Parts: sequence; C-alpha cells; structure tokens
Amino acid sequence: MPEIINPFSKKAKQIVKKAPPIHELPEEVFKLAIAKVLWKKDEKRPPLGILQKEGRADVLSYHLLFLSAGLNFSGYSNEVRLVKDALYEITKGRLSEAYKAEGENFRWRFEDKFRAEEVPGNGFQKPGYRVPWKSLLPLIESRELRLGDWDVSGGYVYSNRVQARKDRRLDLQRDLIEIYSRLVACEAADFMSGLFGSEQASSDVSSYLKPIVDVLREVSEESYKAAFASGKSQKFAPENFPPCIQGVLRGVSSGSRNYAISVLLTSFLSYARAAPEKVDNPRLVDFIKDPAVLSDEIMPLIYRAAEMCNPPLFEDQPLEKMNVSYHLGLGLTEDVKLENSGASKWYFPPNCEKVRREAPGLCKPDALCERIKNPLNYYFIKMKDADEGK
Ligand code: SF4
Repeated sequence: MPEIINPFSKKAKQIVKKAPPIHELPEEVFKLAIAKVLWKKDEKRPPLGILQKEGRADVLSYHLLFLSAGLNFSGYSNEVRLVKDALYEITKGRLSEAYKAEGENFRWRFEDKFRAEEVPGNGFQKPGYRVPWKSLLPLIESRELRLGDWDVSGGYVYSNRVQARKDRRLDLQRDLIEIYSRLVACEAADFMSGLFGSEQASSDVSSYLKPIVDVLREVSEESYKAAFASGKSQKFAPENFPPCIQGVLRGVSSGSRNYAISVLLTSFLSYARAAPEKVDNPRLVDFIKDPAVLSDEIMPLIYRAAEMCNPPLFEDQPLEKMNVSYHLGLGLTEDVKLENSGASKWYFPPNCEKVRREAPGLCKPDALCERIKNPLNYYFIKMKDADEGK
C-alpha cells in the first residue's frame, strides 16, 4: 500500500506545493491520472495493480484530476462526481488490500487528522473504537453519515454499531476503512467545488489538462448515463438557493439594489439554470436552446426581484434593464433575446468574498456557506443532495 493514502494529508500537500508547473510534470503523472479514471470505469474492479504507485506520482496524479474536474465542471457535475467516486474506490481498495494482507496486524497508522482509537470493553460496554467527532464533520454535513448511529461523548464519537456483530475486529476495521475512504472523497469534492469559477484556469493550464478533461467527460457520460439523461440543466428549485440569493428575491434597499439585481442575481440565475461547463467565452445560447427558458423562467425572477426592491429598481432606473442584458452576455440592449448571445461577456456569479465586499448586507451565511466559495456551488451542492435523496 502506498505510504500516502490521503491526497490532502500534510505530506501530500507539501508534494503539491513543491511540484513544478503542470507543463513540466512527467508524462507518467498524466497517464496515472487517466488510469485512475479508467479503473473506476471498469465495473469488474480489476486489481489495483499499477495504481499502487508510491508517493509523488500518485499524489500529483490526483492533483491533476482535481484541477481538471474542479476548474472545468461545476460541483454538481458528473465529472466531479466521477473523480470523487474514483478516489473513494481507490482509497477503499488500497486499505482493504492492506487489511487483507496484514490481517490482525493491520493498524490505523495515518498521519492525517483522522485518528481512530480502539476502546477496550468493560463490564458495561463492549469493545469498540472512537473518533474525534470533528474529524467526521464533512460526512455529517454532507449527510453521508448519521450521527444517530453513534454515541457521542466528550468530543468523541463512539461506535456502537459493532456491538451486535460476532467478528468484532473484522467489522471494526471495515467500518473504519469505509468511513476513512468517504472522508477523503468528501474533502476532494469540496476542494473541486471551490475551484469552479476561480481565476486559476489560465488557458495554458487548460491546454495541458485537456486530455484528462476529455477522458472525464467521456467516462462520466458513460458511467452516469441515467443521471446525464435527466439533464444537468434543470428547472429552478428556489428552496435550494443560497441565503444571499433568497434575500435578493425578497427585495433589496437602494444601497445595494443595482449590484444585487444586475450583477449577482442575473449571473446566478443564468448559470444556475444553464449549468454550463467552464469554457472560454461561454455564451448563453450554447447552453440554453429554448428561448422560453430565458423569457419565462429567468427574466420573470429578475423582474420580480427588481419590483420588490425599495424603491422598485426598474421603475426608478429603467435603463438598468440594459445592464441586466449586458451581464447575460446579450449586449447593452433592452431586447433580451437568446440570439444576441455573445454581444457582451456572460458574467460568472461573483465569489462570496466579492459579494461580502461589494454588498456586505446581502451575505447571511448558513452552515453550508462555510464549505463553498461561490453562491453557485451552494446551489449545485444542494441540488445534488436533493437528487440523491439526502
Ligand atoms: S457565503 Fe456566499 S453563498 Fe452564502 S450567503 Fe454569503 S455570499 Fe451567499
């Protein structure tokens, strides 16, 4: 088993920090990144074989996968899900192989923050294990783990599920392997979600990542056919909008009206409805084919929110309608038509940091906000959870 299992451990982060620029990385690293995706695609789950690579190449190949998915696809995309699932399966496979080989001698020995300790039994309690509850937070927040299945006391989560099983030790290790693999995958998903929309994707980096991006696109389309068929682009589910957008829809006072409606809401709604991939110079018409989506779904929400402002935005400043059109990439016009796409830049929703800077009163963060950097990520994560029935 490779020494570094978690691509977010301290050692792994140092490897990434010291790595040369992407175009100087050896070809082997790119090949390994692609091999990981292809391994995940193979439903027979062949032996890990070449994926049991040591250290640097392994960590950097994960890093390339995170960049390829995170910079190019939203947190809601099948491509991000594919990388998350591949990491989960590979981590679990590696730990399971080590456990099989080492049997009773297998010990939890990783240098990252996940520290599981065995707890001896006593007259009242059977033996089990405990984990600092904070290290499980990502799984609790993403609802992959239910706190109700555990006993919590003194900052630790104690396992109680193992009590009923005969072969306690075997199950104990398997539980830990499952939890640990999910934790690592969750961290990766959060990391990738935070990348989408960031400024890191220079065209240079994009061109080097293209072979990996192409494989991700192809494999995710095949692997998640059902999800793909239901369409990435979906009707709005306003209950999943982040607090700032919900606030804008309820109306904003004169100080931040223009920013709230023409910049934040317009870009958010258009990207949320179109769910586009990150491409250079995107145009609304490339992602939305039906003009009714613009005229009957996006624009009414913008007009209603403008009406709710105090005083109503477009009554007060009719020319501001042109600014909305401009931010949709339709040019400086009141004629909001899909065929005008490309007449100006289609603005990506501002990051949370920028919202807080430009209009501090709009940002009323909740727990999920701590995990995201852009209001759009908030929406995509909530939509994904809703799709998965969490
Ligand atoms: S943290 Fe971001 S998503 Fe959450 S309310 Fe603030 S701006 Fe909106």
